Amino acid sequence: MKTPFISREKLDEITAQFPTPFHLYDEKGIRERARALHEAFSWNPGFKEYFAVKATPNPAILKILKEEGCGVDCASYVELLMSQKLGFAGQDIMFSSNNTPAEEFQFARDLGATINLDAYEDVAFLKEVAGIPKVISCRYNPGGVFELGTSIMDNPEEAKFGMTKDQLIQAFKELKELGAEKFGIHALLASNTVSNNYYPELARQLFELAVEVVAETGVELDFINLSGGVGINYQPEGEENDIAVIGQGVRQAYEAILTPAGLGKVKIYTELGRFMLAPYGLLVTKVTHKKQTYRTYLGVDASAVNLLRPAMYGSYHHITNMDRPEGETEIADVVGSLCENNDKFAINRPLPISEIGDTLVIHDTGAHGFSMGYQYNAKLRSSEILLEEDGNVRMIRRAERPEDYFATLYGFDFEK
Ligand SMILES: *Cc1c(COP(=O)(O)O)cnc(C)c1O
Repeated sequence: MKTPFISREKLDEITAQFPTPFHLYDEKGIRERARALHEAFSWNPGFKEYFAVKATPNPAILKILKEEGCGVDCASYVELLMSQKLGFAGQDIMFSSNNTPAEEFQFARDLGATINLDAYEDVAFLKEVAGIPKVISCRYNPGGVFELGTSIMDNPEEAKFGMTKDQLIQAFKELKELGAEKFGIHALLASNTVSNNYYPELARQLFELAVEVVAETGVELDFINLSGGVGINYQPEGEENDIAVIGQGVRQAYEAILTPAGLGKVKIYTELGRFMLAPYGLLVTKVTHKKQTYRTYLGVDASAVNLLRPAMYGSYHHITNMDRPEGETEIADVVGSLCENNDKFAINRPLPISEIGDTLVIHDTGAHGFSMGYQYNAKLRSSEILLEEDGNVRMIRRAERPEDYFATLYGFDFEK
């Protein structure tokens, strides 16, 4: 079962103060998650989590993670800028981008961020536009398919990211020639995995690669970045990842492969987004319409602009009716108001018989939720609200207003 992190009474207080729809975040859960991650990797003295900013780019959230000892993983100019303004600097910033504009490499260099090169061709490009830093990382793509046991988790061969093994070795040699002193290896081979074996298997592959690369190039390997990809279970039933088990699995691979090869000081980094935040966000929305045709439609005041995953990937997000957690059910589609038929949060979903005015929460929207939002149909982005550890509630982003939408237009004076 999925239970919301907020009680009905408390949520009623919040919706009385802040109009729906909005994303609500749970500070307590976020802090506990960060602590569990650090505990799971405490065997590795240099461990660091670089939170993937794109998952939840809100300063209030990033501040909480900073207090918990996390750095940030950025992939764009504005993500770098936000991180800088929040006091992340130098080694606290990982810059894992691809197809990177020159000015972003330059800004990352100015900030002293650790640059993670996506392409072999980036070696020459970085040298030309920003110079080669002392610490540098390269992103690996093994090609083929990534399997865990008998199941295919993803297709690295079809992914635009990373470089081949030969390219990575050549890149390390050239970067060393050009003055780089410390090196890292990075890979992200599968997304939203719900398996305690993903990181350990990825780690095993990267550790074996690392031993080979160090033997071949003689570089000083500083870190291995396991990146993101550890997921959450969006379904109400089934297993969740156990980060303690995952940490131990990585440790076993480390002690079996890296330590005997004399690489027992290599730091482990992660760039988790979804695992850190997804469960600690809810999209809060109200039923505004009910329509009966060939199906039953519950119209809500949120739409795909507030949460794209169901429309884009057909992703399941669990829904709880806060006003009627139990009771007789009906089969309904929960839909937004966009003029697009994919604007559905749930299709043929058994839900308690809902009425206009009911408050629904859509679960697990804390990562890749608000941040994937857009403005189709001139819909405005919602607010974001933080439930603080002490029970206080604070708006951490206001909802957009029409003037925000018009602000970038020329030849159109909204004030007239
Ligand atoms: C998206 C991304 C992440 C985070 O992925 P999650 O699935 O949210 O953990 C980490 N690193 C890079 C380079 C990414 O692109």
